[in-house]
Amino acid sequence: MISQRTLFLQHVGQTSPCPMGLEIERAEGIYLYDIQGKAYIDLVSGVSVSNVGHCHPIVVEAVKSQAEKYMHLMVYGEFIQQPQVNFAKAIIDLLPESFQSIYFVSSGSEAIEGALKLAKRATGRKEILAFKNAYHGSTHGALSIYGGTELNKAVQPLLPGVAFMEFNKPESLHLITGKTACVVMEVIQAEAGIIPADADFLAEVSKRCKQTGTLLIFDEVQTGFGRTGRMFAFEHYHIAPDIICFAKGMGGGMPIGAFASSKKLMDTLTNNPTLGHITTFGGHPVSCAAGLAALHIIKDENLHFKAEAKGELFRKLLKHKAIHEIRGSGLFLAIEMVPSFKRDAFFAKCLEKGLIYDFFLFSNSAFRIAPPLTITEAEIEKVAGIILQAMDESL
Ligand code: PMP
Repeated sequence: MISQRTLFLQHVGQTSPCPMGLEIERAEGIYLYDIQGKAYIDLVSGVSVSNVGHCHPIVVEAVKSQAEKYMHLMVYGEFIQQPQVNFAKAIIDLLPESFQSIYFVSSGSEAIEGALKLAKRATGRKEILAFKNAYHGSTHGALSIYGGTELNKAVQPLLPGVAFMEFNKPESLHLITGKTACVVMEVIQAEAGIIPADADFLAEVSKRCKQTGTLLIFDEVQTGFGRTGRMFAFEHYHIAPDIICFAKGMGGGMPIGAFASSKKLMDTLTNNPTLGHITTFGGHPVSCAAGLAALHIIKDENLHFKAEAKGELFRKLLKHKAIHEIRGSGLFLAIEMVPSFKRDAFFAKCLEKGLIYDFFLFSNSAFRIAPPLTITEAEIEKVAGIILQAMDESL
């Protein structure tokens, strides 16, 4: 019989020469179980997706109950669908007063695409600014604002009029001018290896955007929905952008994304020309029902605020001569290793001991700690013990 692994490599499109290739049978809470029944602790959450844990029973129930009522009915925006309306209202209630409207899409990349188009339409400007070492998605628009050189080099040309600022470097601020439609940024850069913006720098970016009529877009795709110790990372700074992009943790494990803005700004998608963004599946009712259930769990159990203390516990427990520094906040941490550390041996040990790990697109010397926010203190102690042991064994 041909193995699943062979069929996987043969028939499921591959973009990595060395996929992890674990065959997972089921997942629950912070655990994934492979077909041999081996349990793995998830330190990645599918990259900040499974914030309420895998297969949370309340989310599963919401999915089942909505799937029994209706699934896809019509392209986005034509029908009034209760799960969408209720989810939009629940998110708007969490955002600053200047936000009244949400456009639902299906992924983070599409949220970025929508936000870029909205900014260009609303300002009538052509230029876009983004940051070095930022990743915002893999579609052509999102890849045009990718702050690296590797992933975009084989697909040129991309969008014209894009320039890159240096994160936390005030010397870059002059790039924001009266010709700039928008500045896209993560207030905590994820794939750079979890680099938080300096408060002063962020304040200057916001000020300069206001002075020049440039729209400020925050990408909360990885940081959103409780990951960093607040519901959204920008809450650490008390600065509100004009547009926010969400995805990943938004859907409780189901695919969904969105961009939010004021009603006035969002209305620029309605006319001249009409249909400013079109999506068939955006805001799928089953995903919205799952997302709303997940949001209730985060709020009811205070998972966002508890993430702060849980992150602190990781910091306290993870003391080792192989660790150079720990960055980040909440359960959004980067463990930066000393240069001499044997990374591959360490990761092999982690997998052997049942830990799912991941590193960052722009940083090979760090790995991420981003487990489901539901992880308990006892589980954190267990994970830290495994990490320290794997470090000892791979020195
Ligand atoms: N923005 C950020 C910060 C991301 O990390 C990602 C995905 N890793 C995206 C956007 C794109 O999201 P998606 O993969 O859902 O298109």
